[in-house]
Amino acid sequence: MQRWSRLFIPTLREAPADAEVASHRFLVRAGYIRQLAAGIYSYLFLGTRSFNKIMAIVREEMDRIGQEFYLPALHPRELWEASGRWALMGENLFRLKDRKGADMCLGMTEEEVMTSIALKEMRSYKQLPQIWYQIAPKFRDEPRPRSGLLRVRQFMMKDSYSFDIDAAALDVSYKKHYDAYCRIFDRCGLKYMVVEADSGAMGGKESHEFMVRTPAGEDQIVSCDGCDYAANMEKATSKLEEVPDLSAFEDGKPLLVHTPGQKTIEDVAKFLGVSPKNKIKTLALMADEFDAAGKKKSSRAIVVLMRGDHQLNEAKLNGTVATATRPMEEAEIEALFNSPAGYLGPMGIEWARDLKDHKGKPVLLVDKALEGRTNLIGGANKKDYHLKNLTPGKDFQPTAYADLRAVTAGEACPNCGKPLRIDTAVEIGHIFKLGYRYSESMGLRVLDKNGKEVMPIMGCYGIGIERILTAAVEQGNDENGFWLPSSIAPFEVVVAPVNVKDEAVRNSAEDIAKRLETAGMDVILDDRDERPGVKFKDADLVGIPFRVTVGKKVTEGTVEVVFRSTREVRDVRISAIVEQFQELLGRTE
Ligand SMILES: [Zn+2]
Repeated sequence: MQRWSRLFIPTLREAPADAEVASHRFLVRAGYIRQLAAGIYSYLFLGTRSFNKIMAIVREEMDRIGQEFYLPALHPRELWEASGRWALMGENLFRLKDRKGADMCLGMTEEEVMTSIALKEMRSYKQLPQIWYQIAPKFRDEPRPRSGLLRVRQFMMKDSYSFDIDAAALDVSYKKHYDAYCRIFDRCGLKYMVVEADSGAMGGKESHEFMVRTPAGEDQIVSCDGCDYAANMEKATSKLEEVPDLSAFEDGKPLLVHTPGQKTIEDVAKFLGVSPKNKIKTLALMADEFDAAGKKKSSRAIVVLMRGDHQLNEAKLNGTVATATRPMEEAEIEALFNSPAGYLGPMGIEWARDLKDHKGKPVLLVDKALEGRTNLIGGANKKDYHLKNLTPGKDFQPTAYADLRAVTAGEACPNCGKPLRIDTAVEIGHIFKLGYRYSESMGLRVLDKNGKEVMPIMGCYGIGIERILTAAVEQGNDENGFWLPSSIAPFEVVVAPVNVKDEAVRNSAEDIAKRLETAGMDVILDDRDERPGVKFKDADLVGIPFRVTVGKKVTEGTVEVVFRSTREVRDVRISAIVEQFQELLGRTE
C-alpha cells in the first residue's frame, strides 16, 4: 500500500510567478511536475502515475486497431531530406551533429521513419492495410514555450500511421481512428468536441480535431448550439445575409470618383454615402520563397479582396496559397499598384490566371463573399481616387475565388441558421488523411492485385498525452486545487485519518485502505502525523477524486466520504465502504 509519509509529494502553497493557466499552477503546486528548462518538464511521482494511466488507456484502445512500434527520436538528415521536410520545418526542428559532423535531428513526428520502414519491407497489396503506432517523446523547438505543459519543447505523443491500397480503404482506417479516439477521450473523462479541421491546400483531404473548450486554450473553435456543427477557425464558414448591390452609376463602366484624403474603408463608405458591405477591401501581401539553406530566393505578390466589413483569416489564406505571407512593404506596393496605400484596387494589373501555375505573376484572390456581387466600390490605384461600378469577373478577372473570411460570433450557422459561438480550446487529438504526400516524395510502392505498381495512401493520427492531463485539470479545478477523472488520477481514493496518534482511528484507516486495495482500488493512505487541515488541503490540491476521512465517528462504525468535485460529504458505514466505492467507481464484481 502507498503511504503518504514515505512518498515524495512536494506540494507548494505558491504557484510559479509565470504560471498563467490553472493546469500550470496546479500541476506544479501539486508536485506533479517541475520545470527543468523553458518548455522542458520532469514528472515526479504523482504526475508519472497519472501519465502512465493515460498512456495505458491510449495503448489499450490503439491495440484494438493497430500495432505498437517503438521508433528512435534521433533521425538522420537524409531521411527528412527525402520527404522535403528538412528545409520546410525551419527552426521548429531540433538539429544537431554527430561526432563525424553528420547532420541529425530530433523527431517531431515519425512520418519519415514509418514510411521508410514500409518502403523497405512492403511489397504487395496483400500486406495492406497496416496501422502502426507508437507512444514516444517528440521534440519541437518552440519559439515561446509557455503555459506549463500546454506549449513545450519535449512532449509525449501517441502517433499512428495508416497505409492503405486506396482511398476507400483509407476511409476505413480513418474511421477506426475516429472511433478509437472517442473511446480514449471518453475513458479519460474529458468533455470534448470533434471539429472539422483545415484540409490543407491541395484539397479533398479529410481532417478532424478533438478539442476541449477551456479559456486556457490557444485555438479557437466555432460551434453551433442549435445543431452539431463545429469547425476550427481555418475551416469554419457561416451563412451570410444577402447584401443589396448598388445600382450602376452612369454607363455602368468603372467610374473614377474623387475621394480626397479618404483612405479607410469607413471613411470612403461614409464619404460616398454607402455601406462598407458595398466596398472592396484590398490587402497587399507577399509570399517569400526560400532555398534549402534558408536564403530568400524570390517573392511574389498575393493580393486579397475582401468585403469591406470582413476580416481575413490568415490560416485560410495560407492554406489556399500553400505558404505563409507577409504585408507588402511600401516600395513593393508602389511597384505593383503604382499608387500609395489607401487607394489600392484590382484594376490595371495583369493577374495570374492559375493559382498553382502563376508563372511569377501577381495572384488576385477574391473572397467568396464577393463572388456574384456587382457595382462595388474599390481603390483606383491613384492617389485620392476610388472606382465605382466594380464587378468581379466582369471588370477584372480574379486568379481564384476562395473562402478567406474569418467567421465572427453571432453569424448564422451554415447548417441550421442559428447564431454561431466562438470559444477557445485545447487540441487533444488530430486525425488527418495525408494522402500520397509521403508515399510520393519517398517513393513508396506496392504491387496491386494485377501486378501493377501503386502508391499506398496514408493517414496520420496524433494524441498529445500532456494535453489530456492539462485539459482534465483545466476542466476540473477550483481555488483549492483540481480533481481528475478517476481513470487518470494518480490515486482513486485518499484515506485520511484525522489523528494518527489515536489508535482506533489509525487502525481503522489502515483497515479501510487495505480492504479498498484488496478490492482493486488505487488507494493512498495519508498516514502523516499532520494536522487534519494540512492533510485536507493537500488532498484537495492533488487531483484525487475521493477522500475517506477517518475521524471520531469510527467508534460508531462510520467514516466520511468526500467527493472532491462537488464537495458532497456522505457518511458511510465502514462495513459497507468497499461496496460504496465499487458503486462510485463503476466497478462491480
Ligand atoms: Zn447549426
